[in-house]
Amino acid sequence: MTTATATILDGNKIAAQIKSEVAEETRSLASAGVRPGLAVILAGHNAASEIYVRNKVKACEQLGIHSEKLTPPESVTTEELLRLIEELNRRDEIDGILVQLPLPRQVEAGRVLMAVAPEKDVDGLHPVNVGNLSTQRPGLVPCTPAGVMEILKRSDIPIAGRHAVVIGRSDLVGKPVAMLLLNQNATVTVCHSKTRDLPATARQADILVAAMGRPGFVTREFVKPGATVIDVGINKITDSAEFATFFAGDAAREKSFAEKGSTLVGDVDPRVAEVAGALTPVPGGVGPLTIAMLMANTVKACQMRRGTPRRTRS
Ligand code: NAP
Repeated sequence: MTTATATILDGNKIAAQIKSEVAEETRSLASAGVRPGLAVILAGHNAASEIYVRNKVKACEQLGIHSEKLTPPESVTTEELLRLIEELNRRDEIDGILVQLPLPRQVEAGRVLMAVAPEKDVDGLHPVNVGNLSTQRPGLVPCTPAGVMEILKRSDIPIAGRHAVVIGRSDLVGKPVAMLLLNQNATVTVCHSKTRDLPATARQADILVAAMGRPGFVTREFVKPGATVIDVGINKITDSAEFATFFAGDAAREKSFAEKGSTLVGDVDPRVAEVAGALTPVPGGVGPLTIAMLMANTVKACQMRRGTPRRTRS
């Protein structure tokens, strides 16, 4: 059983705050006759993607955002998807286009993602938006990294002048998180699978961000006492021996594991709570922020494209 000393950073609470700000923005836009619109492309069949998309559509409904789900078949070609995106790029009532990954095997994902107009690229993955982020110009920032920054900001964790270590360098998470931290004047170290002595490097961090996709990899020896640890990882575990290494003695988890036969663990061993100053839990940490920031990005895309003023968000 973990003897926690760390403050647990509640992602659900922060996501709810952001969603209520987004709802305020959509109400203000509605009074000007504008309704932001999000198109989600879900190609083929993937059980996990179907759940993610359902949750995104539901969040749109709750917040006054128009949403459309487009479901081309598993056999869809790159050219067909390009035509679909061209049409969405042209349609004025669509402000955001999200291509749910993974795409069917035969599709050239890079070409498809590049086809989304940068001003509608609510995933922030288009090179124009990557360039905007790295040169600190206004643009759309990837949702999960933007969510990490909201957690830090809204939990009053100082960033400027602090040493941030990011483990992971993917285009989706690690690199944009590192850039956002750098833009907020942190001193940033980016680690990856070739980094030597990862625990010693990680131990220098005042803010440690784990985005690796390795269940419970970041253990106590990676963490400087009092550091803030942000766990981006989402890993499903089904093996009872592995479960026991992380959660033995945690009655609530044991009950849920017995019922469902699986649980989620991040890239951080939950026992890091014994040394960290603050820690995001899994589930209920970074995860809920991803959808909240997608909603925020859709409204931001709408406001930027239509030149309408923004009320609450920077
Ligand atoms: P990814 O594309 O697989 O990238 C993983 C990164 O971790 C790579 O840069 C890799 O290094 C590095 N890495 C892997 N093993 C390592 C090791 N042993 N030591 C040091 N570095 C290592 O994954 P991703 O898309 O960034 O996602 C990372 C995690 O975040 C996953 O668990 C994913 O499920 C989760 N995620 C969560 C959300 C959310 O909503 N909370 C959103 C997106 C992703 P190399 O570059 O050298 O290979």
